[in-house]
Amino acid sequence: MNLISISAFEDNYIWVLVDDDRRCIIVDPGESAPILRAIKENGWQPEAILLTHHHNDHVGGVPDLLAQFPHLVVYGPKETQNKGTTQVVEEGKNVFILGYEFSVIATPGHTSGHICFYRKPYLFCGDTLFSGGCGRLFEGSPAQMYQSLQKINALPDDTVICCAHEYTLGNMKFAASLLPDDLAIQDYYQKVKELRAKNQNTLPVILKNERKINVFLRTDDTDLINKISQETNLQQPEERFAWLRSKKDNFR
Ligand code: ZN
Ligand code: FE
Repeated sequence: MNLISISAFEDNYIWVLVDDDRRCIIVDPGESAPILRAIKENGWQPEAILLTHHHNDHVGGVPDLLAQFPHLVVYGPKETQNKGTTQVVEEGKNVFILGYEFSVIATPGHTSGHICFYRKPYLFCGDTLFSGGCGRLFEGSPAQMYQSLQKINALPDDTVICCAHEYTLGNMKFAASLLPDDLAIQDYYQKVKELRAKNQNTLPVILKNERKINVFLRTDDTDLINKISQETNLQQPEERFAWLRSKKDNFR
């Protein structure tokens, strides 16, 4: 299967998996125009839609796609039931599309019903993990999001992380301000600055690298613990995650 990203809105990506017969699976179509254009231009045959959570910038294009392709099966968590989902899925129930098996991983935090879809090596993680960052906690608790990120972090090194937003530059600005002496972070920040200056995508990313540069996956890292202990004394990784998330919420 071929992986393709389609830009939508300001900074969203709609991910598309296309097989050799041009049949495709569409992930989080927040708006319909760019994906309908790509379908037409490439002669794709949409077979299924995967939805990670209920926010409009991820589900807004579903009605138009269903109107044009009524046979489409739309898989999503319970919270997307009234957003066009035809098959409600949950962790433990795998999804079979085009002969491929996707596992569903419950990742509450950004929303309470947020899920990710994983089919080795691809992870479609919506607004849970971003490159260099993670989703804001709109509905879930820091402890929930911490656990969700731990599940993602347990996937293989070569996992291809397909996030729904191009937030990498802002995330790395935050990481670089936090750990100014960290070479991996500074190198990646430079690389991301160059890519974005040329208006190029920074995604997808590989989990192995993300573990080095994403502070939200480094809550047990000595340098980060030392940094946090300059301000406050936190014993648990969940607490350090909560500290990081609120620090980022207030960072500009
Ligand atoms: Zn969202
Ligand atoms: Fe979003």
